[in-house]
Amino acid sequence: MFDISSKKRIVLKLGTSTLTHKTGKLNIRRMKNLIQILADLHNSGREIIIVSSGAVGMGIGKLNLTSKPTDTPTKQAVAAVGQCELMHTYDNMFEKYNVTVAQILLTKHILSNGLSNVQNTLQRLLEMGVIPIVNENDTVAIDELELKIGENDSLAAMVANIADADLLIIMSDIDGLYSSDPHKNPDAKVIPVVERIDENIVEMAGGAGSALGTGGMATKISAAKMVTDAGIDMIIMNGKDPEKLYDLFDNKEVGTVFLAKNYSDKS
Ligand code: GLU
Repeated sequence: MFDISSKKRIVLKLGTSTLTHKTGKLNIRRMKNLIQILADLHNSGREIIIVSSGAVGMGIGKLNLTSKPTDTPTKQAVAAVGQCELMHTYDNMFEKYNVTVAQILLTKHILSNGLSNVQNTLQRLLEMGVIPIVNENDTVAIDELELKIGENDSLAAMVANIADADLLIIMSDIDGLYSSDPHKNPDAKVIPVVERIDENIVEMAGGAGSALGTGGMATKISAAKMVTDAGIDMIIMNGKDPEKLYDLFDNKEVGTVFLAKNYSDKS
């Protein structure tokens, strides 16, 4: 069975909808709770890597734009402003608990050509007791040449793989994987455990996504496929209530757990 107590190295993906209000401005109450809990988990001896979205969302907030830009130069400029604000926020909030953070910005190009450097740096940062905070380098990633990773669910899965993590947690604006679309079907239920990602599961994932973020359930399922194939468990849970992380680490049922392939061989 899934047992969280054995999970030491954890990649946590935070979506824009978890970090900001719909305006793109920081959700202060939620972030305060979240950072406190993450600092606590870090103090308990866990190694934490955050994959954080929010550069574009926070850039929109900081620049007081009314909607997400559509052209590449504006998107990249907004991301440049927002990434700065994002790291400033993490740095300030973690500092309160004496936790040091570091920024790592990745592109598809780096992941295909400089993987061992990324791996070594992540490893060294974790040894130093630092929390690496990873995002796609949205300011330079090139959409048109398909050199963009595209969304942070895939990025988080790649990071979990290269960091050889024990667990990937995706915090989003949904409670988990539902048996059917909860917006259309009031009887839809969160599936607590997925042992195998088959066509049925892919179908349940449908589409969707929030106004400021990029991914939907479909990108989360493909992230789950990527990590579980590599022997890493994954959880999708709602980020609106960070205290649920404590429940999760108390081995209570939270969100949807996707079990790693060959689970019995691992545990
Ligand atoms: N890298 C984008 C950002 O920081 C987010 C992509 C996503 O939401 O998946 O805004």
